[in-house]
Amino acid sequence: MEKILNYINGELVEPTSGNYLDNYNPSNGQVYSLVPDSEESDINNAVLAAKEAFNSWSKTPKQERANILMKLADTIEKYSSELIKAESKDNGKPENLAAHVDIPRAPANIRFFAGAILHDSSQMHEMDGVAINYTLRQPVGVAACISPWNLPLYLLTWKIAPALASGNTVVAKPSEITPMTAFMLSKICIEAGLPKGILNIVHGLGSKIGDPLTTHIDTPIISFTGGTVTGKHIARVTAPMFKKVSLELGGKNPNIIFADADFDKAVSTAARAAFTNQGQICLCGSRLFIQEEIYKKFKIALIEKTKKLKVGDPKEISSNLGAIVSKEHMNKILSKIEEAKKLGGKILIGGKRVILDGELKDGYYIEPTIIEGLSSDCDINQTEIFGPVVSLIPFKTEAEVIDMANSTKYGLSASIFTENISKGHRVAANIDSGVVWINTWLLRDLRIPFGGMKQSGVGREGGFKSLDFFTEPKNICVKI
Ligand code: NAD
Repeated sequence: MEKILNYINGELVEPTSGNYLDNYNPSNGQVYSLVPDSEESDINNAVLAAKEAFNSWSKTPKQERANILMKLADTIEKYSSELIKAESKDNGKPENLAAHVDIPRAPANIRFFAGAILHDSSQMHEMDGVAINYTLRQPVGVAACISPWNLPLYLLTWKIAPALASGNTVVAKPSEITPMTAFMLSKICIEAGLPKGILNIVHGLGSKIGDPLTTHIDTPIISFTGGTVTGKHIARVTAPMFKKVSLELGGKNPNIIFADADFDKAVSTAARAAFTNQGQICLCGSRLFIQEEIYKKFKIALIEKTKKLKVGDPKEISSNLGAIVSKEHMNKILSKIEEAKKLGGKILIGGKRVILDGELKDGYYIEPTIIEGLSSDCDINQTEIFGPVVSLIPFKTEAEVIDMANSTKYGLSASIFTENISKGHRVAANIDSGVVWINTWLLRDLRIPFGGMKQSGVGREGGFKSLDFFTEPKNICVKI
């Protein structure tokens, strides 16, 4: 069985303990590879390698850093078809989605930040003939980059690209649930000739190697994407060490459909926002607010649309939904659907596990599920489920829907559908979330400040915000 290895100081190495964890293929429920069960000693080795590499990498001219990263991006692209298959097998997502979303974004992330450092500038403040101040932006040191399982290579590269481009070195910890494409990336780094030690990838359980990485004295900067509970823990343990921390956390995103929306566009986008990647995108619209006048018509159209979605073999081009990432997560989603029923929710479509034929009979599939009849403040409508489950909530007025949209502890993203431009802008300005889309969903410009409000995160990543985060500003004051 294939063994995934850690990538430390430019080499593929076994975990020091020699222990491995099972890695599952969610499409058939079978173990298909082994992932290192790393320990503190592996983290220490990786941080040491990164610390040593920092001396030269932080002084490497920007153009040279950009050239090295561009070569890495080219080499990733060379292996696109293998990466697409691997991401789908490891995560359960349709290959078609990995081919259009996940894998193209990996080289795109790297090229974007390799280019961005060549176009960056810093500030100058003149003191009326007395002095000038200028700001140096210098790399911080060894960056700990921790990523989740829902968009494995996409989010890993979203972190390591700006960290490396800015002159930091990195110890990355991908999710133990989807380690395969990070392992493939480490082999690609070797082929691309990435300087030894600038990127290190340590696999293993967050509960075991998370603290040793985030509280290590030589990791002054942490970029984390994952659940709110884990984010709280990281905030708590790192606060006394005064580290720079960026947290990109969970969401319970409202999708607001006004009666004057472009009906067909709103229906198809609402279905996409609810069920893409089996509902396992932090930005998925899982609370669907529909204005009363069109509620019934919209509900019927959404059910019709959902009926046409095929849950099936992730390898087949016709599958719209693949498998849920793990058995534990599938059971959690199913238990939330049961809870919704107990609270009086009516399942309009879906709600059950799907058992596919033959080799895929033990895979983790769930029907796309639409629920109605739950109050906006019940637990199902307040906490993240992170599965193919959307809850319909009618509303009367603009003020009422803004209140309900803002009623959760989260504030990651929102979508508004209306043909009234003024209303769109007005509602967007009043929604507490880091990203608001009007008449669309998941349209991403890599330059925008991306992140969440409230318990959806702290800080922003993307564009120059990422370069700001991964550098330390230093004021130099020169007396004239
Ligand atoms: P998770 O918090 O369980 O794990 C994320 C990563 O943190 C994994 O690599 C895990 O091993 C690691 N980890 C676990 N415990 C740790 C600890 N004590 N210290 C350090 N690292 C630790 O999240 P998940 O289940 O992998 O991902 C799903 C969550 O991620 C959802 O809540 C989703 O909304 C969120 N997410 C947010 C964004 C965003 O941009 N805001 C993007 C994608 C996913």
